[in-house]
Amino acid sequence: MRRIRYLCDMAPAPATFKRIAPSFRLATPPKLRQESATFPAARPHTRTNDAMPAAPIPPPDSETYDLAIVGGGVNGVGIARDAAGRGLRTVLFEQGDLGQATSSASTKLIHGGLRYLERYEFRLVREALIERERLLDAMPHIARPLRFVLPHHAGLRPAWLLRFGLFVYDHLGGRRRLPPTRTLDLRTDTAGTPLLADYIRGFEYSDGWVDDARLVVLNARDAARRGAEIRVRTRFLAAARTDGLWRIETEDAASGGRATLHARALVNAAGPWVDGVVGRTGGAEEPPKTVRLVRGSHIVLPRMFAHDHAYILQNADGRIVFAIPYDDDFTLIGTTDVDHDGPPERAVCEDAEADYLIAAVNGYFRRKIARQDIVWRYAGVRALHADPSGAASKASRDYALEARDAAGAAPILSVFGGKITTYRRLAEAALARLRPWFSDLGPDWTAGAPLPGGDFRAEDTPALIARLRADYPFLDDRQARRLLRAYGLDAFPLLGDARTDADLGVAFGAGLTEREVAWLMAEEWARTAEDVLWRRSKLGLRVSAADAARLEAFMENADGRARKMRETERTKGVDAKP
Ligand SMILES: Cc1cc2nc3c(=O)[nH]c(=O)nc-3n(C[C@H](O)[C@H](O)[C@H](O)COP(=O)(O)OP(=O)(O)OC[C@H]3O[C@@H](n4cnc5c(N)ncnc54)[C@H](O)[C@@H]3O)c2cc1C
Repeated sequence: MRRIRYLCDMAPAPATFKRIAPSFRLATPPKLRQESATFPAARPHTRTNDAMPAAPIPPPDSETYDLAIVGGGVNGVGIARDAAGRGLRTVLFEQGDLGQATSSASTKLIHGGLRYLERYEFRLVREALIERERLLDAMPHIARPLRFVLPHHAGLRPAWLLRFGLFVYDHLGGRRRLPPTRTLDLRTDTAGTPLLADYIRGFEYSDGWVDDARLVVLNARDAARRGAEIRVRTRFLAAARTDGLWRIETEDAASGGRATLHARALVNAAGPWVDGVVGRTGGAEEPPKTVRLVRGSHIVLPRMFAHDHAYILQNADGRIVFAIPYDDDFTLIGTTDVDHDGPPERAVCEDAEADYLIAAVNGYFRRKIARQDIVWRYAGVRALHADPSGAASKASRDYALEARDAAGAAPILSVFGGKITTYRRLAEAALARLRPWFSDLGPDWTAGAPLPGGDFRAEDTPALIARLRADYPFLDDRQARRLLRAYGLDAFPLLGDARTDADLGVAFGAGLTEREVAWLMAEEWARTAEDVLWRRSKLGLRVSAADAARLEAFMENADGRARKMRETERTKGVDAKP
């Protein structure tokens, strides 16, 4: 048994891109084609995708894949996208909905991790800083730059030291477009208005924000259009090596039906379940006991301040709490770091955690908040690969990849830890680790490749919103902005030939219509109202319970019909999607 362990071995990404399988491509909406003369120009680098030669997609009747991936979180779908783009025949299993676990429960920051500088994690910070602007460029619809205000007080490190740390953060690598740090007089700056009068001086620096759940689904879409199969609500049961391949058993969560397939390599990207999956891969391998489960909780309240900057607040215990503008009308506050004992799926934000966050914020803001102000709370579990001793908040956020094979074949690659921010680099590193078993693997290609709907420049967003409203005059400004921010250029094909409100079908409240739901079911693997209201969007914050129930009934019906169609197609031997 060969055993190789790599700790974040990052191969530098050459600036060349290879190929894309043109097997599935959304048609350019006719309206865009007609008026392309006035349409904002796409960035030249994004055109590179079109120049890629076609992927060698194996015949659809073959049940042997190159790569089988367990886990539809950001790391699993990121690896699926990268692998499919390099020509590997890839299948991914997600036991529930895409991004349902940690990857939709993050603080949603694309950041270098200012606080990791204190722990001298320079490599992690530098890599994340370089990645920050790359990601912002590749997904201008779902991500955006964000300014953070750090109020200074006597309990913190001296102001000069913080300023120095921020100088290092600004110059450690990768900052091209984002503005640098500046010092604030909180007595006169708008950022000081909601703060207690004690806060006189502060700093303002740059990082990024991303809709984490949509990041997952857009990676899955891109993987699918490059030839990957994304099987949601499909649980990985077990795998065993036979004749140099993995024989994999899965179970359909709805029907309980079992399926068997083969793959040359297995990727375990099961996040908090990573050890469990290792334990179900047969053989005498001991599950690596390197994972530590640490829960982080967030609370959401009605908007607490009028501007669009976020706050980074140092709590009395030395931890950091963020207060971030969220979905126009709300403020997101998080997070906690608590060792998580139960199963990962039982992660909830406990009252004690909510109280901790409330107290942290009340130490800074004039307006006091209380538990009854909370409109939503959520929790996620980090699977950190750190030493189990020591404070949870001190455990490293870095990641590790572990690869093993048997007699030079059937490798399993397990992913431990990681951040949303580093998911694309992690995927590159995972493919680099798999290269010994796939000698004809294509080169790195994802740096700079836009996600679906994201092939435009961030500065063109207002023009695109205006264009959407011009093409679809029945949309109000809020609806147009929401659609553009969620789907980017794909908002146009989503709305298609609609001429009036009525063409969008049943309305489910808060601007959600049958046409959007149909898109989410057909293109984004949504099956339930929860998928739509809490992951593909955050409309759950706005729709009534009655509307949510109507949506659930509508989707159950539509899913039943879609299932029947998929079954019929399958028995006819047609490759159904998704
Ligand atoms: C509170 C909190 C805040 C965070 N904030 C940030 C942040 O601001 N910025 C940042 O960069 N990072 C942040 N992170 C880290 C980031 O969210 C995680 O690193 C990332 O989401 C991990 O993704 P993953 O794909 O490894 O795991 P997951 O998202 O947990 O995905 C694993 C998937 O595997 C599936 N699965 C498990 N077992 C099976 C099976 N047997 N069969 C099929 N599927 C299975 C699960 O259902 C799950 O969907 C935060 C994390 C937490 C917890």
